[in-house]
Amino acid sequence: MRPRSASLAAIATLAVVLAACGGSPVASPEVTASARPASPPASAAASPVASGDVEPAPGSSSRVYAANPGAIVVAIDAGHGGCLDWGVPDPSERGVELAEKTLTLAIASRLAEKLEAEGIGVVMLRDEDEALAGDDYEPLGCSGAPWRDVNGDGISGFGPDVPEATRTRDELQARLDLANVSGADALVSIHINSPSEGGRRIEIAFSETFYTDETPWGPSATADLALAVQQGVVDRLAPLASYERGDRGITAHNLYLVAPPLFEPTEDRPDPVKQPTRGALMPVVLVEVGSITLRAEHDLLASGAGQDAVADGLLDGLAAYLGERELAARIGLAGEVIPTIPPTQPGRGPMFWAPAAPDGPVELRLTNTGAGPWPSGLVLVAGWEVTDEPYLRRAPDVLAPLDVAVPALEPGEAVAVEVDLGSPPPSGRSVAWISLSNGSTTTADLGSPALQLSSEAP
Ligand SMILES: [Zn+2]
Repeated sequence: MRPRSASLAAIATLAVVLAACGGSPVASPEVTASARPASPPASAAASPVASGDVEPAPGSSSRVYAANPGAIVVAIDAGHGGCLDWGVPDPSERGVELAEKTLTLAIASRLAEKLEAEGIGVVMLRDEDEALAGDDYEPLGCSGAPWRDVNGDGISGFGPDVPEATRTRDELQARLDLANVSGADALVSIHINSPSEGGRRIEIAFSETFYTDETPWGPSATADLALAVQQGVVDRLAPLASYERGDRGITAHNLYLVAPPLFEPTEDRPDPVKQPTRGALMPVVLVEVGSITLRAEHDLLASGAGQDAVADGLLDGLAAYLGERELAARIGLAGEVIPTIPPTQPGRGPMFWAPAAPDGPVELRLTNTGAGPWPSGLVLVAGWEVTDEPYLRRAPDVLAPLDVAVPALEPGEAVAVEVDLGSPPPSGRSVAWISLSNGSTTTADLGSPALQLSSEAP
């Protein structure tokens, strides 16, 4: 076996300014390269450092991503949860029937088992009846986790003096942060509707899926995922329902978890805290899998057969989506376990932070997680940005190519490369954003999260 070449590669002297995140069409390359005075100038012409041996795709019988299912990570959000059951308007009136939070966790657990049986890495954003960002309110008998201001709006908690949405926003931000720092390829949030009109519950059954079309990752990646899971759930529930079920399809609608971060307040959206401080860095969908106001549907969703059908439908959708991504990548530290669940940071602020970069050269593992071979000429790019946030909400303005050759990997193949990320800015903590560029876009902008590494331990 050929040893991996080890070299202190310097960031090349060409600064590539990539089109900023925020909706630039993928098809319109806006790459500009400008020579920057540097010494020695000869280094710009040197060939990139060779990378290590290509590791073959392990191959499997997985129907989600047969080439290399172990490189894929799915984050599953069981909607609601905890003693106060965030998102439920009046927690003092918790229902007598099976609550939404109970059914969503049951379905989420079944989906996790099915994905793991297909070899996929799973991150459960909650795996018991809990809230991550606070669930402590003695007047209602709740003594869960202490309150944290996760979204950084300066308020946290629950009670008469705190705006009602506060705890929901902090909780959802914590769940987004967990999915983001785990580098998930997709985030599926599972909910169940209680349709009503004028305060009266409506006894109808239907499925619907929400997504946001304001993401930077391509014109349709998120809609593709939404359509696939919606179809999966509708098709799997239909044969089991002895009553009429509706298919309300997919809707682009910002629902905090599926909204992009609001960088600049606009006339339409004057209030930044109504959108996440840090939006999902991967395609995310919120699926209202059914309705519990119709008794027969409630009973179906409370049954093992109904929960299995929903989980199978979500699995069908994820398999269709993950099996069709053209250009996708997992970029991680060599040797790390997939998925890597970040530890919860102590304190009263954000819970999940980008890990610290190792000292010296960094060994990365690049895996082709797409359906097609990587084109030749993919370039590993990186940039540092000073931030006091747990990780970067979007790519830094400048991403510079790293001096390493990226082989044209086939689906599922991986390679280890050693890179020098250059020096972080001298002042304060900063975070590096590492992605792959094809000259006009990056894999991060196509929905494969960038690797983020911090200059300091959280
Ligand atoms: Zn819900």
